[in-house]
Amino acid sequence: MPADSTVNFNLLHRTCKLVVLLCVLHISVTVVFYVRSLDIRFAFVQNQQSHNNTQRIRKTEFIPRKEPKEAEIHKEAPEEVQQPEQKSTEPQPEEKAEEPEKKMEKCPETSPLLVGPLRVEFNTPVSLEQIKKDNPDLRPGGRFKPKDCVAQQKVAIIIPFRKRDEHLKFWLHYLHPILQRQQLDYGVYVINQEGDEIFNRAKLLNIGYSEALKEYDYECFVFSDVDLIPMDDRNTYRCFSQPRHLSVSMDKFGFRLPYSQYFGGVSSMSKEQYLKINGFPNNYWGWGGEDDDIYNRLASKGMSISRPNGETGKCRMIRHQRDKQNEPNPQRFNRIAHTRETMYKDGINSLSYRVVKIEKFDLFTKITVDVGKP
Ligand code: BGC
Repeated sequence: MPADSTVNFNLLHRTCKLVVLLCVLHISVTVVFYVRSLDIRFAFVQNQQSHNNTQRIRKTEFIPRKEPKEAEIHKEAPEEVQQPEQKSTEPQPEEKAEEPEKKMEKCPETSPLLVGPLRVEFNTPVSLEQIKKDNPDLRPGGRFKPKDCVAQQKVAIIIPFRKRDEHLKFWLHYLHPILQRQQLDYGVYVINQEGDEIFNRAKLLNIGYSEALKEYDYECFVFSDVDLIPMDDRNTYRCFSQPRHLSVSMDKFGFRLPYSQYFGGVSSMSKEQYLKINGFPNNYWGWGGEDDDIYNRLASKGMSISRPNGETGKCRMIRHQRDKQNEPNPQRFNRIAHTRETMYKDGINSLSYRVVKIEKFDLFTKITVDVGKP
């Protein structure tokens, strides 16, 4: 082989090797750059994802604060951001503090809870424990007020009392549910005459009026015998524009008034009406006449008597023997004849008594008093 062609061949061989090397280098560089670009893209995707997550977290943090939707928060929000949102669904302390200030509507004139005629009987004995269970919303002392509305009236129920515990149980058993259905803000005051001296119903009523007012800002007073139970809850134990006689159809009198001026049994008077007649007489000792005296006082002040109709005003009396030391008062006719002269000096303005004991029971407040003697 000639020397020239050998030189040419070597040159070509070297050139080819160089070209191949350059190609390999190029490919290597390309591969390296490609792989690096993959890393960057992967990292970018990762970053994007984490960035998106963060964005989503921020969004869930932010949006529900503006518009807290309980269901959404609980389903979708990651745990760590649920916390503040769960808190925000809890009532805040300020909200709790505001609750008592929440203005309640006045209860309607006629309670929607009334049921009308009631079955009243005294054959099955009742226990105080059972009555307590039946009336879980009562507050100590036999107090109650509606939960969902402001009662039309604050009513003190005054019961003159002595040794009639069995009657009182029936009264509490029947009356507490009725008074609650009537949506009254009420308290039951049993005014217990201490000792065995002659009974004085009207003085006990005066004492009930004045003692109840020491406890609460009552505006209406219902004066009820312990043995009288209404047979219809539409006979509302509240006050009206005129003094009210509530026990208008007693079974004892054949479900009619014994006489048109009759004001005994159960009656109600606003504070103003009561004060206008100087309260009740304090000097009727024994049975009878004091209710007629009260009627005379009202009539002398130009007031009329408001009454429910005969059906709504039906009531039952628990039959009993006349109490000892409560014999008919022989002086009653003479006293009734002079009400107009005596009423200004005998009444709430001349009331004197001594409180012996005040007991707050679950179903009533019992105030034992020394009323003196004739
Ligand atoms: C008495 C009243 C009594 C009425 C009904 C009258 O004679 O004076 O006090 O309420 O009879 O028994």
